[in-house]
Amino acid sequence: MTDLPSATSTLVIGAGVHGLSTAWHLAQAGDDVLVIDKTDVAAGASGIACGVIRNNYFQPAMSELMAACVEVWESDPEALHYHGSGYIALGPPAQESDLAAVYERQQRIGYPSELYLGEEEVAAHMRSLFGDWRAPGLTVCLHERAGGYAFNRESMLGLAAKARAAGARIETGITVTGFELDDAGAVTLVHTTTGDITAERIVVAVGPWVPDLWAMLGLPARIDVRQPDGSVETDLPMWTYWYLQEGEIDFDPARFVTDDGRPSPVLHIDSDQTLRDDEARLITTEPWGVYFKPDRHSVQGGAQPLQLGHSIELDPYPTGTVEPGFPDMWCAALSHCLGRFEGMRPRYSQVRSGGAGAFTVDNFPVFDFMRPNVFVAADSNHGYKMIAVGREIARVLGGEHSALLHPFRFERFATGDLHPVSHSPYPWS
Ligand SMILES: Cc1cc2nc3c(=O)[nH]c(=O)nc-3n(C[C@H](O)[C@H](O)[C@H](O)COP(=O)(O)OP(=O)(O)OC[C@H]3O[C@@H](n4cnc5c(N)ncnc54)[C@H](O)[C@@H]3O)c2cc1C
Repeated sequence: MTDLPSATSTLVIGAGVHGLSTAWHLAQAGDDVLVIDKTDVAAGASGIACGVIRNNYFQPAMSELMAACVEVWESDPEALHYHGSGYIALGPPAQESDLAAVYERQQRIGYPSELYLGEEEVAAHMRSLFGDWRAPGLTVCLHERAGGYAFNRESMLGLAAKARAAGARIETGITVTGFELDDAGAVTLVHTTTGDITAERIVVAVGPWVPDLWAMLGLPARIDVRQPDGSVETDLPMWTYWYLQEGEIDFDPARFVTDDGRPSPVLHIDSDQTLRDDEARLITTEPWGVYFKPDRHSVQGGAQPLQLGHSIELDPYPTGTVEPGFPDMWCAALSHCLGRFEGMRPRYSQVRSGGAGAFTVDNFPVFDFMRPNVFVAADSNHGYKMIAVGREIARVLGGEHSALLHPFRFERFATGDLHPVSHSPYPWS
């Protein structure tokens, strides 16, 4: 790194999806933008994400924001390494009402999707796509015809190229170590490992590292949360870490296609059926859930997230490990769904995939000014797909109101204006 400017109009901290998208949109609007990252472009969660891009969220505000995100992905599939193959969520009876509600909202907002209900109808739809579909007991299917997946690291390099082409400067190997604040709480100076920087405004987009920067800004590690019924839960930890277990099988993605030869949509299955491996050994009688998609040379996906607690060591970034039972479970689930995956367990490989994310106290993003000149993008680990958040942040910094970001303001914890909660056992739908 050479010649780091000591002053900039906007300083963006973090070169993941939110920092890069913000920089791209701000620079397009003519702003003087400097992005700094302690490691490199795509060094964080955006460079390890499975890359699933879906609309399926039970919360109206999430669903509306995701529809805007898909528009941005679709705006330049080549540069963003985006594949608009669609996304399919399948579930047991317990999920019928949630997915039906999502489908009805998608129809209202014009998001292209279909809903199939009842075991026979669901199986018939899946067999019309995949002749070897064989998962029993699924009674609801939401087939989103938009969305799909993108390749994590390549898409971030494409986004960085767009930001640079628009005039943003991106410097790596620079770690933010602290802030100086004035009496009004505005940041007057940013301390970094290569010198101090002054900026009129700052965007903090540091993914799983957000608890550190949050603390540097003097923001609370524990907060009270008013519930929609008016009661208040006190002294809750602001951040909880989860580890997403992911792996892949060595399977030619050209064979993971629909019967008419198109790349498979992303498949997300939650099931209450007993799961056995290909030798009929019992894997689980508990409800289970998996997702999987074609990758560059393999089929990639995950299952069974693990809660890690409220503080963890993030350097080096935890990735590339799973619990001992994960490969058996994930491979059995693939084979349970599609005959083509039978016998694939020996072709499982634990590559550099999976990783940690920092979830907020209600598991939904905080996108807000947390100091008078500091906007924090803390996506609660929902956000590789959320490429439009940077566009909206640029609008807000430009003085506009963003109806899409408004539901994610920090104030909701004090007012009780929280997001509705689905029946999913996991904190991301
Ligand atoms: C295993 C896994 C799979 C996932 N799969 C999906 C998926 O399929 N779809 C989806 O939508 N989401 C997915 N997510 C969530 C998604 O990856 C994250 O929500 C999103 O990438 C966060 O983006 P970000 O820009 O906030 O942060 P990051 O991409 O983490 O970028 C933050 C950057 O900040 C830098 N940084 C940190 N601290 C400092 C500092 N002090 N000074 C300077 N720089 C700093 C880091 O080096 C890093 O490059 C997944 C997450 C994980 C862990």
